[in-house]
Amino acid sequence: MKIPINLKAGSVDKEEKKEVIIGIDLGTTNSLVAYADGEETIVIRDELGSNALVPSILHFGSEGVIVGDDAREKLISAPQRTIYSVKRLMGKSYADLESLKASVGYNVIDQDTEALVKVEIDGKYYTPVELSAEILKELKVRVEKHLKTTVSKAVITVPAYFNDAQRQATRDAGKLAGLEVLRIVNEPTAASLAYGIGLSKDEEQTIVVYDLGGGTFDISILQIQNGIFEVLATHGDTHLGGDDFDQLIIDYWLSQSGVTTQDLKTNKSLGQEYRTQAEQAKKAISTIGSYDTTIDDKELSIDADTFARLASDLIDKTLNACKLAMNDAKLTNDDIDQVVLVGGSTRMPIVKTAVSGYFGKSANDSLDPDEVVAIGAAIQADILAGNRKDLLLIDITPLSMGIETVGGLMDVIISRNSKVPTRAGRQYTTSVDGQKNLKIAVYQGERDLIEHNRKLGEFILTDIPPMPAGIPKIEIKFILDADGILTVKATELRSNVETQMEIRSAYGISEEDMARMLIDSLQNAESDMKAKALLESINEANNIIMATDRFIAQNKDALTVEQITKINALKEKLQKSTSGDNKDVIEAAMQAMNIYTEPLAHEALDRNIGKALKETKL
Ligand code: ADP
Ligand code: MG
Repeated sequence: MKIPINLKAGSVDKEEKKEVIIGIDLGTTNSLVAYADGEETIVIRDELGSNALVPSILHFGSEGVIVGDDAREKLISAPQRTIYSVKRLMGKSYADLESLKASVGYNVIDQDTEALVKVEIDGKYYTPVELSAEILKELKVRVEKHLKTTVSKAVITVPAYFNDAQRQATRDAGKLAGLEVLRIVNEPTAASLAYGIGLSKDEEQTIVVYDLGGGTFDISILQIQNGIFEVLATHGDTHLGGDDFDQLIIDYWLSQSGVTTQDLKTNKSLGQEYRTQAEQAKKAISTIGSYDTTIDDKELSIDADTFARLASDLIDKTLNACKLAMNDAKLTNDDIDQVVLVGGSTRMPIVKTAVSGYFGKSANDSLDPDEVVAIGAAIQADILAGNRKDLLLIDITPLSMGIETVGGLMDVIISRNSKVPTRAGRQYTTSVDGQKNLKIAVYQGERDLIEHNRKLGEFILTDIPPMPAGIPKIEIKFILDADGILTVKATELRSNVETQMEIRSAYGISEEDMARMLIDSLQNAESDMKAKALLESINEANNIIMATDRFIAQNKDALTVEQITKINALKEKLQKSTSGDNKDVIEAAMQAMNIYTEPLAHEALDRNIGKALKETKL
């Protein structure tokens, strides 16, 4: 037991101080830390007490690593040793990042297209996990200075679409920073928590969370009922955010100044100068409506109308995602009680107007859009600390998960939009006599054939005791935890042989890929159904062929030569039909086989019963 001693008062504190669990919004552009103490939520600010945002930027200088505003200043003077947008690299392979590499000032290493990315600074290699850990350390120091005590536990938020690998990378970064990550929470869920606090128990609300940050866009629809926050649907784009609006201004200025994209690439400092000024301009338009500047002796300007015209495509993209989410949740605007704005980019008046217009109600930005996620994370931390037992959180999974079954078919075990945490299972059996091993391949996606879905991993259930085909009872269980990490367990129930794996898919899945998978599944529904029906017929035919072989082997003494010849001929025809792609031909061949063998099977059954009766008589 620990005895709390108050050094100042020189006494033993009677009341043990509760441990603080911090909430962290680890953003692409900015990060924040907050904590709650059961009643109040406090966002930690800088030493001047004004700015809560820590730019997610690192600079590797002669005195080591610096993080935040000071690092931001180095973007122009030392672009190659100043790292930003690390969150985009989390859990990603180089192949995922072709487009990003061209746009950043630092070196992303291309060792092997399949390997996870690294960043090179002065000949040293850093993983995104290590880099994120530096940002987390900075936040940890900030909160420790404020609380005058060490902290070791945290809740960290991630975009709703982060996959297992990205969530795990975030956890690892926490660990590396000396933080035990108690929970990874979806950002929109945290934001809703921030807005949902204080709701009375019997209040029911359906809320849209529109989160446009610096690098990502998320739209989520949440239902709050009896103190439970349930995410009904999510959509988004991991490559759409404030940076893209900055890029519009850069492109506009390039057309004004005659400077080319290539110039900015070769002169990285100039590139960063354009980037910084463009962001300045965007923010100025949000407040005063226009902006003038001079870069490299070129006079540049932009006004609100021009910007609105340039930005309309990007905003339409976000509204389209809203539409998809609403369709997923099967809701209309009348069902929505509130629209909540999250992320610095929602400060753009054109965004607020567009979102309010789309949903037919004024979008709520009564909480600071920069701080809501961190506040929600702190509230979640407070719940975990046991200070608010009345709240629960339920998230959903954006894509179905299942396993490959015979013939390359996808058998869904946890379906799309299921609530997490969740568990689901199904029983399978073997298709070959004496089968010892069973490969379990896990996929994610909406298509009927696994070849069109995304493989998450595979493992082999070994040491199944020899049994005839169809006898083993193999239970496959999917356990999806609150962080969205999947554990797959396979157990042969008769022998209790068991294997399990945690799915750590190595590479990220982009929002575009996710959208493509969903659209493909709709467009190909008919051909998928046909392919699935054909494969099912082939599987059935193969089972009949195996059963026929067994039947002949078991009854060869009682069957006539003609009968055996006829069965073999039918079998051959059936076998041949399975190599074609006509389901009707296969079905006809199966039927012919059944018609001929059914009476023989009955005779065999009678013989066996007769034999059994004789045996009992003896
Ligand atoms: P993230 O969640 O990706 O870390 P934030 O929510 O902190 O991002 O949002 C950062 C983005 O918000 C940046 O692109 C920044 O330019 C933009 N932003 C901040 N303030 C304003 C403003 N007043 N007007 C327009 N954009 C803004
Ligand atoms: Mg954010």
